Amino acid sequence: MSDKKSNLKFYELSIDQRLALLAEETGLSADDLAKLSGRAGLNEAQADHMIENVVGTYALPLGIARNFLVNGREVQVPMVIEEPSVVAAASFMAKLARAGGGFTASADASEMIGQMQVLDIADLNAAKKALEAERAALLVAAGESDPLLKKLGGGARDLQVRIIDDSPIGPFLVIHLIMDVRDAMGANVINTALERLSPVVERISGGRVLLRILSNLADRRLARASCAIPLEALTTNEFSGEDVCARVIEAWAFAATDPYRAATHNKGIMNGMDAVVLATGNDWRAVEAGAHTYAARSGKYTSLSKWSKGKNGELIGELEMPLAVGTVGGATRVHPGAGAALKLMGVASARELAEVIVSVGLAQNLGALRAMATEGIQRGHMALHARQVAAAAGAPPGMVEPIAEQMVNEGHIHIDRAVEILNTWRAK
Ligand code: NAD
Repeated sequence: MSDKKSNLKFYELSIDQRLALLAEETGLSADDLAKLSGRAGLNEAQADHMIENVVGTYALPLGIARNFLVNGREVQVPMVIEEPSVVAAASFMAKLARAGGGFTASADASEMIGQMQVLDIADLNAAKKALEAERAALLVAAGESDPLLKKLGGGARDLQVRIIDDSPIGPFLVIHLIMDVRDAMGANVINTALERLSPVVERISGGRVLLRILSNLADRRLARASCAIPLEALTTNEFSGEDVCARVIEAWAFAATDPYRAATHNKGIMNGMDAVVLATGNDWRAVEAGAHTYAARSGKYTSLSKWSKGKNGELIGELEMPLAVGTVGGATRVHPGAGAALKLMGVASARELAEVIVSVGLAQNLGALRAMATEGIQRGHMALHARQVAAAAGAPPGMVEPIAEQMVNEGHIHIDRAVEILNTWRAK
C-alpha cells in the first residue's frame, strides 16, 4: 500500500509520514498517535502503578503490519517486537492472502477455565456426587463474584468435577469452573470467583481446598483463521506458484510429525502473535502457555497450523489454537500505547481482537515456511539483521544503513566487521 500523495510505500516513508498516513486511514487522533508512537507513552508514574520496585520503563520498537484483510475488514496491525523481519514478513504474507480474499477468522465465546484442587477427602466418589448435586447453587455463588460481568452477559457457565487418581500424592478432586469473561482475558475474574467458591466447596465436599487458579489451557476459547492463496500470488522469480505451494506443504509436514521442527514452527507463529499481544497490553506468557500445551494435546507435540492444497490447486492455510486476550482489564486500559493500539485496530471486542491475532499467526507461519522452502530464511533476513548488527556495534543512526549495506555486499555480517567499518569511517 502506498502513500497516495508521494506514491511511496509505507516502509519508504519517514516515521512522521507513516503516522500521518495512519491518521488519514484510521481517523486516529493526534493524541492517540502520540500514545501509539510512545511519544506520549507509558510514563514512570503509570509504570509505578503497574508492577513493583519500578525504576523506569523499557521501550521496544512498534511497527505496523500492513495489508491485513480479516473477515473482509481492513486492519492496521500494531506489532511490538525486537526481532527484524517479522513485521515485513507479516505484511508481505497478508498481501498474498489478500489475493485470495484475505483471512477468514472466528473465535469461540470467552470461556475460561478455573481449577480448584480439593484434598483430604475420604470418599472421592461421594464428594464428587455431592458437588455435582449442588452445581446450580455453586454456579450462582460464582456468578455473584462479579456483578458487572454478569450485567454484561458474562459469568459462570459450567462446573465439572474430576477425580485425579494418578498423582504422586494419591487421589484428589479437581473442580473446573467455567466462566464467560466477555472482553477480559479473565485471570483475575476467574481467580476471584474461585476464592469465593472455595469455602462452599469445602463445606459440601468435606475436603480441603488448596489451589484456586486459572488454567492457561484455554481450550474452550479457541480462535481460528484460514486463508486460500491463489497460485499466481505464490509465484516468485525462481519458483512457480505450484512449486511454492507444494514446498510449503512439504515443509509443514515436517512440523506436523516431528517435535523438534514443530517447536520452531510454532515459535514462528508466536513471533507474530506475541507482537500483537504485547502491543495491546495483553499477557503473552498466558497465550504462549496455552499455545504450546494445546500443541501437545494428543500426547505428541505438533504443529498448530495446517497447510494443504485446495480444490482449485490454491494453498490453504489453517490455524486453530487457544487465545485468551482482552480489550479490557490487565494492562489494556492502563498502558497508553495499548489503548491506542486497540483503537488503531478498530476491534470492538475480545473475540474480534483474537480473530486478528490468529490471522497474524497464520501469516507469520506462511512467511517462515515460504522463505525456508524457497530462497532460504537468511536472504530476506540478512539485510535487516545487518542493520541490527551495525547498531549493536555502536553506529550512530546516520551510519547504520551504509554499514549494513556494506556488510551485506561483502557477504560478511558480523559485529567485528561492523566495528572495523565504523572505525575506518571514523578515522577518515
Ligand atoms: P481485570 O480484573 O483487570 O479486569 C476484568 C474486570 O473488568 C472484570 O472483573 C469486569 O468486572 C470488568 N469489565 C468491564 N468491562 C468488561 C467487559 N466488557 N468484559 C469483561 N469484563 C469487563 O482483568 P482480567 O482479564 O480478569 O485479568 C487479566 C490479568 O490477570 C492480566 O494482567 C494477567 O496478566 C493477569 N493474570 C494472569 C494469570 C495467568 O495467566 N495464569 C494469573 C493471574 C493474573
